[in-house]
Amino acid sequence: LTPSHGGATRTTCAYCGVGCGVIASPDGQGGATIAGDPDHPANFGRLCSKGSALGETLGLDGRLLTPQVGGVEASWDAALDLVADRFRETIAEHGPDSVAFYVSGQFLTEDYYVANKLMKGFIGSANIDTNSRLCMASSVAGHKRAFGEDVVPGTYADLEEAELIVLTGSNLAWCHPVLHQRVQAGGAKVVVIDPRRTVTADGADMHLALRPGSDVALWSGLLGHLFGEGCIDLDFAAHVEGMAGAASAPTLAQVAAATGLTKQELRAFYALWTRTEKVVSVYSQGVNQAADGTDRVNAILDCHLATGRIGKSGCGPFSVTGQPNAMGGREVGGLANMLAAHLDLENAAHREAVQGFWASPAIADKQGLKAVDLFRACADGRVKALWIMCTNPAVSMPEADAVRAAIRNVPFVVVSDIEAETDTVRLADVALPATGWGEKDGTVTNSERRISRQRAFLPAPGEAMDDWRIIAEVGKRMGWAEAFGWSCAAEVFDEWTRMTALSRDFGKVLDLTALEGCDYDAMAPVMWPVGGPERLFADGAFPRGKGQILAPRMGEMPLRDRRHPFTLNTGRVRDHWHTMTRTGRSAKLSLHIAEPFVEVHPADAAALGIAPAGLVRIASAHGAMIARAQVTDRVARGQLFAPIHWTGETASTARVDALVEGRVDPVSGQPALKGMAVEIKAL
Ligand code: SF4
Repeated sequence: LTPSHGGATRTTCAYCGVGCGVIASPDGQGGATIAGDPDHPANFGRLCSKGSALGETLGLDGRLLTPQVGGVEASWDAALDLVADRFRETIAEHGPDSVAFYVSGQFLTEDYYVANKLMKGFIGSANIDTNSRLCMASSVAGHKRAFGEDVVPGTYADLEEAELIVLTGSNLAWCHPVLHQRVQAGGAKVVVIDPRRTVTADGADMHLALRPGSDVALWSGLLGHLFGEGCIDLDFAAHVEGMAGAASAPTLAQVAAATGLTKQELRAFYALWTRTEKVVSVYSQGVNQAADGTDRVNAILDCHLATGRIGKSGCGPFSVTGQPNAMGGREVGGLANMLAAHLDLENAAHREAVQGFWASPAIADKQGLKAVDLFRACADGRVKALWIMCTNPAVSMPEADAVRAAIRNVPFVVVSDIEAETDTVRLADVALPATGWGEKDGTVTNSERRISRQRAFLPAPGEAMDDWRIIAEVGKRMGWAEAFGWSCAAEVFDEWTRMTALSRDFGKVLDLTALEGCDYDAMAPVMWPVGGPERLFADGAFPRGKGQILAPRMGEMPLRDRRHPFTLNTGRVRDHWHTMTRTGRSAKLSLHIAEPFVEVHPADAAALGIAPAGLVRIASAHGAMIARAQVTDRVARGQLFAPIHWTGETASTARVDALVEGRVDPVSGQPALKGMAVEIKAL
């Protein structure tokens, strides 16, 4: 691979965690034509509708091009001095935990690394959390419980080499389309586990429309079945703890009662999983975004650990991440409960090693505020200076109305973004213009642990600056010029690769040291551990010593009450991304689904007088929204589905996260963005 290709530039898609390689050819007028990179190992030239339309999302309309202080244009020096002064004064008066950063899975790894270094090593607080908390935190926690480290054991090639692929809590055809194409190319049997009959389910060999919240019961029942059928790898079991706990797995009758599936459906699924050696179980937000999300993840991992179906060709559990760099952020410690390099905040030796590497004046010694708690701390006055970077929490957080009010309550709010007018930028005291996709250099890590370069092929517009550089400039102004003195993204990456020696020293898998001093410009996509095996754990060598099976459980069902008798699930549509600040620029992408909707079952629609395409109001205890009814039996009676993308400030718009309660998984802190108790009425 070479970085340029006939005048074009090889880079990586801006959107999902598949991490497709893209070839961008600038048109000389600020735009570019886009093609899939035939040599990139994630996609081999394929692109989905969103990736193909990236060229239409470029351009300067609506961009934030100069720093703004109090809504008035300011110089970079004035804005950066103000940010550094206010953070320094706040820390001096109220301590390091009175400030917080809220960052993004769309940050490049270099941005994440610098933000985490400033907060945990120099400010001395762990109050840095990320919108990846809404996306993948339960997978992180599940991996750590089972393996001792946040590691996806398999590779995308397993999707082509498997004989059976189970897609659970994943509408892969719409949310990770290129991986869905790879599944189809492999020809494995496909089982979809999803309360809703999605497009992915339409193409599957089996669809299990389980009741929302019964995932743990379903997978725990499978574990019991595997033991009952003698389908346990006894050699591999020597490397796994907790095998005895499987004796308490729920019976088939208990699983049928919990899931609403028939015993015949369950027997068919369990028999297929049991007799197929090469099984990949893919899971995504339908698993993670729940109050028992971590238990759901572990219930899936348990079945693979018990059978030794892990780390081998065509075998393994597979977490597919939502965002382009959810993995890279996790690696450098971008979550409030982690140190960099997969090390632990609670471990004194780990803290000492990280502080020593950075030669920093401080090191956070306890967990910081996770996303939902972070904005609650803004509401009750504990956070007095907040810096939001590259994300739009005024729309995307649970209890979005309360979060908007919480941000307003913070005495000093900084927002870095590429857009001038997001719902969150409007709440900023200081708005800082950042470079966006195609304008900056850095790296991202995709769902199979593959690091790829994002490369600039357009000049930075106006006065926009790379996020890592903005943060470093503030770090310098806070008094740490040497520690934040990099001149380019390559130097940041080089420091990061050197830091992963700590991870290796403490027995972790994450190791990028072979990339130290590499030719950053020419860097080809590479998996970590760099130079190590691509598939992990087939030999039973887990970072925690032995793998861990957790005792089977029944899981946690969503809440319902008499006033809110419906269960609302949320998700993506095929052609839009997050709050549409980028995909909303492409007219072509809005052709697929042009407006917000809610799916409602025909029998419920008839009972409530809801006409097809009529407007409905959906309300929870936390907020309300209006959308157009799509009357369909894709959802079961008593269930609704609405997309997450549309925004707005009032209950007459379709901002679904205003309805979501900030209920979190107690292990991961990930909010339950699925399974809300709501009411629905015709308008
Ligand atoms: Fe981009 Fe994901 Fe589509 Fe690939 S599958 S082109 S990474 S949005």
